Amino acid sequence: MERQLIKYLLASAQPADKVLLKGWIRTKRDSKEFSFLEINDGSCMSNIQVLAERSLSNYEEIEKLKTGSSISVKGRLVESPAQGQRFEIKAEEVEIYGPAPEDYPLQKKRHSMEFLREIAHLRPRTNTFGAVFRVRNKLSFAVHEFFQKNDFLHVHSPIITASDCEGAGEMFQVTTLDLKNIRVSEGRPDFTDDFFGRQANLTVSGQLEAELFATAFDRVYTFGPTFRAENSNTSRHLAEFWMIEPEIAFAGLQENMRLAEDFLKYIFRYCLENCSEDMKFFNDRIQPGIIDNLEAIISSEFEALSYTEAVSILMQSGEKFEYPVKWGADLQSEHERYLTEKKFGKPVIVTDYPKEIKAFYMRLNEDNKTVRAMDVLVPGVGEIIGGSEREYRYEVLVSRMKESGLNPEDYWWYLDTRKYGTVPHAGFGLGFERAVQFITGMQNIRDVIPFPRTPKNAAF
Ligand code: ATP
Ligand code: MN
Repeated sequence: MERQLIKYLLASAQPADKVLLKGWIRTKRDSKEFSFLEINDGSCMSNIQVLAERSLSNYEEIEKLKTGSSISVKGRLVESPAQGQRFEIKAEEVEIYGPAPEDYPLQKKRHSMEFLREIAHLRPRTNTFGAVFRVRNKLSFAVHEFFQKNDFLHVHSPIITASDCEGAGEMFQVTTLDLKNIRVSEGRPDFTDDFFGRQANLTVSGQLEAELFATAFDRVYTFGPTFRAENSNTSRHLAEFWMIEPEIAFAGLQENMRLAEDFLKYIFRYCLENCSEDMKFFNDRIQPGIIDNLEAIISSEFEALSYTEAVSILMQSGEKFEYPVKWGADLQSEHERYLTEKKFGKPVIVTDYPKEIKAFYMRLNEDNKTVRAMDVLVPGVGEIIGGSEREYRYEVLVSRMKESGLNPEDYWWYLDTRKYGTVPHAGFGLGFERAVQFITGMQNIRDVIPFPRTPKNAAF
């Protein structure tokens, strides 16, 4: 007999159907003549109740089973007299794979997110993390579906790189040098001894490579792990996170903004439609109102305004900010939240930032002061997307590189795209975990990635 998943059992089963299912005991209640076992197999939030009667040959062992044990159940579906469920399973055979002793940490009580992080190897077996990782899975699929339907080519950009995309440092170095015994020449480690014969790092972004491919395939996207050694212990930063970076050729900031808005709405809608049971859980238990919020966002238009307008709104707001607002300074998370949560109450796209606070590759505006950047800010999370129209004029790009302290010779391959058949193009990066946070309402980014890497923590 073929094994079934609870998800399908609950959706389509009929009384008296024979069933075989396997899973883990969530809770158990015993009476004199029988035990009730609540089983979950991860296929959905719901458990199914199994009635195991004393007449079963191995009842003595079944009776001793505790929360966390893994079993296989053969039996028949019967209408359940219990409230809140249509069916239960009357067991005819229960096979025990692995019992779990009394010290199983996930006993039936509410655990704090902090405690669950310490047992990240077991937390997927809870309701909350079951829902988080099912939604994360669907969201990842939705990302590919959106781009594939719109003729984007998926590029696997390299994880190890010898260029610093942001020109910002904050990178993890990759080396096979023996750190206890490094040959130094002219006061610096001699990287000619290293694996790649030069200094190499984990990538902070796949954008430059995406740009190269956009000049051949027109529309491309990357979806891969990204690493930043920034020491920000916040609820929105990880040292290892996943980023989605589309890049479109023959396009500018307007097309880029439209793409970002359409894309976000598409993946939000996908989750509402395909994760309804889990989304209901987030709505009831994690962030009340989140379903209505997402629906409102899908059917409304994002607000768009320039950085200069944003600064003047913030200065006139009368709010007391910890970081003062002034033209030329980067927007802090408190400013971003004021704009999305208080001022507009919806996602906001801020464009045209001062060039000093943005990367060298962003297209310079006529004013020579601002660049065609765009950040998409959402309520609760703040910045979810950072993007721009790219500087596609060879001379301007070279001088912006020099201004930013980069050596154009190191980027000869990147500059070649501007030398041979250059085109206006644009793109952005969406932090995948910030999107999962936004959709689920989970407060801390550490709780939407299976095994978070943060300063001083790489456990599991
Ligand atoms: P922030 O100001 O929030 O640190 P950033 O300006 O450094 O973000 P970008 O370099 O524009 O971010 O990266 C694009 C997107 O990647 C961001 O909009 C965000 O969604 C995500 N992102 C950036 N850094 C991190 C991080 N450390 N952990 C998780 N996601 C991140
Ligand atoms: Mn950052």
